[in-house]
Amino acid sequence: MINEDSNIQYLKGVGEKRAQALSRLGIFTVGDLLRYYPRTYRDWSKLTSINDASIGEECCIKAIVDRTPTGIKIRKGLTIFKTDATDGESVIKIIIYNNKYAAAGLEPGEEYLFYGKIGGNLYQKEMSSPEILKADLQNNSIHPIYPQSGDVNSKYIEKLVRQVFIQNPAPCRETIPENVRDSLCLMEINSSLKEFHFPTNEDLFSEAKHRLIFEELFILQTGLKKLKGNSKSDSNIIIKNESENFYKTLPFEPTGAQRRAVGECLEQMGSGKLMNRLLQGDVGSGKTMVAAAIMDSAVRSGYQTVLMAPTEILAAQHYGSVCKFFESSGFDIELLTGSVSAKNKRIIKEKLISGETDILIGTHAVIQSDVIFKNLGVVITDEQHRFGVKQRNSLVEKGNMPHTLVMSATPIPRTLALMIYGDLDISVLDEMPPGRQPIETYCINSSKRERAYNYVKKHLDEGRQGYIVCPLVEENEMLDLTAAEDFAQELAENTFRDYSVGLLHGKMKSKDKDEIMRNFAEGKIQLLVSTTVIEVGVDVPNAVIMVVENAERFGLSQLHQLRGRIGRGKFKSTCILITDARNSTAHSRMKILTQTNDGFRIADEDLRLRGPGNFFGSQQHGLPDLKIAMLTDTFILKEAERFSQQILIDDYNLSKPENQCLKKAVDRLFEKNIIMN
Ligand code: ADP
Ligand code: MG
Repeated sequence: MINEDSNIQYLKGVGEKRAQALSRLGIFTVGDLLRYYPRTYRDWSKLTSINDASIGEECCIKAIVDRTPTGIKIRKGLTIFKTDATDGESVIKIIIYNNKYAAAGLEPGEEYLFYGKIGGNLYQKEMSSPEILKADLQNNSIHPIYPQSGDVNSKYIEKLVRQVFIQNPAPCRETIPENVRDSLCLMEINSSLKEFHFPTNEDLFSEAKHRLIFEELFILQTGLKKLKGNSKSDSNIIIKNESENFYKTLPFEPTGAQRRAVGECLEQMGSGKLMNRLLQGDVGSGKTMVAAAIMDSAVRSGYQTVLMAPTEILAAQHYGSVCKFFESSGFDIELLTGSVSAKNKRIIKEKLISGETDILIGTHAVIQSDVIFKNLGVVITDEQHRFGVKQRNSLVEKGNMPHTLVMSATPIPRTLALMIYGDLDISVLDEMPPGRQPIETYCINSSKRERAYNYVKKHLDEGRQGYIVCPLVEENEMLDLTAAEDFAQELAENTFRDYSVGLLHGKMKSKDKDEIMRNFAEGKIQLLVSTTVIEVGVDVPNAVIMVVENAERFGLSQLHQLRGRIGRGKFKSTCILITDARNSTAHSRMKILTQTNDGFRIADEDLRLRGPGNFFGSQQHGLPDLKIAMLTDTFILKEAERFSQQILIDDYNLSKPENQCLKKAVDRLFEKNIIMN
């Protein structure tokens, strides 16, 4: 008998070719198929009369067919079949393209259900390419609609799922330990799956859904917790809180959020417990100062600290600001990047071993094996999502379990942060330093492009600088690359020929990129035209205007990050998003950006609109794709968190018999999905 482990080819109707197409959807086994959840449902039981059906709406109409549809050949390869159908009140035109069989299947005088979008006009409504069911069949209820791809359509998947349940009503093993299921009154696995694919009523359906969401989050949480181990270990590194003295040396008053974040870090680092913390703060919220305050206390407590940035230019920038913070401190601060000369590298390394250097700042060069510290107490990484967990860990291994602080400028919804960072503690900078000018953002279509460019010129003429960003599309990168580069070239040679324009594109060597960025930072380049995302964190206060072409191709958070390149100085800044996208989601997405500068709100919206899998653009977070849970399911997430914690405390290795089902599920999820080493 088939079960969840059976190869999908055991099902009737799945040959080699279909199996291949299914594998592209991630379906290899019967279990994968059952976890391939409907995207939505079609309720064939909710009927609309032709009179009430409004144009543009999707609905189900029950009507009697007038006559066998007649086909008209429009041109080679296009035959249109038309007939009329009536529900006793009104008549609707049914239009079928190229499908002889569907057309011939409609018998005059018979009653059918037509599901589709209403077209035509008020006097003559139409439905093109409807889905059709005979009205007297029993199955006219709620049908699942699956995400489909070229070779497998939703109907086909539906048939396969039905087949599975006919052959074996209980194909799947339970994954949630019985005691957990009991205490939460969760539905059993097979009933849940069946109900979720083929809903019978609203109550059962929501119970089933709740169970499946809980299951997903529960397995994920348990797996992540196990992977990361129990990080609440003790630490010998005790950092004294010297922050009040540090604040006195600042040219500004720290914000409440900065004080709170510094306080949270120092309290933990002084407690004898190891700190593993994420510092989240929007661009410009002042994360560098928080880092500096911590480094200050660490050095004054007798430890070395290191700050790692993802690019040379960011490392250099940090070096500059940190040196300024510590001007009068007498600390020894060094910058170590790939471009430091061999001789200087050697000197720096010696000073690190001897303990003469207090603070090291650099790129991934700082994690090379010959960089050895005498007494490393705190490790700080900036813009964490650029580094793999592995790199982060190799930095930690350089000390005797140093405290770590991970700084991220990508506001992440709290639920997502909880998952990606598992048991890291989180501090948030949710307050901007005073006096920031909000960036004004407008969304226009390309017919106004000339005007936007003139506006850019006006600012350049006034001595300011600006950016024009032309994105690539991932699927078609090569083709698009030339297009974007031609466009950039064209701008440089024509529209902006009277200005000094720098070009930045993805295929450039990072050394050349750094060179361009440096020239821009020094004001030698007035306008930076970029086919790639401009380095996060680059600080050029004189840049006040940004134009983003094809803005709809970016994620919201990405756009927010991008515009964070401007609005960093005392001048008012403007961001102009150009898009010709017609669909309404694109528009509502752009609108959010024109309405708010709050990165966290934008992140929430982005997550809601795009789902967690796409949140970072690619799989950089190493998180398995969630199939059913939305990360906004905070309540269920908390429950899942609580129960997985309980189980792990009691049985960390999941070796008790009652936890075997969970162990299997965790192993399966993580062997398939996650690379976390
Ligand atoms: P980010 O969080 O993006 O890394 P930075 O640390 O680069 O932000 O800070 C942005 C700017 O704000 C810097 O020029 C910094 O000196 C300034 N700044 C930071 N904190 C404050 C504050 N409390 N008051 C005024 N200016 C501040
Ligand atoms: Mg920064």
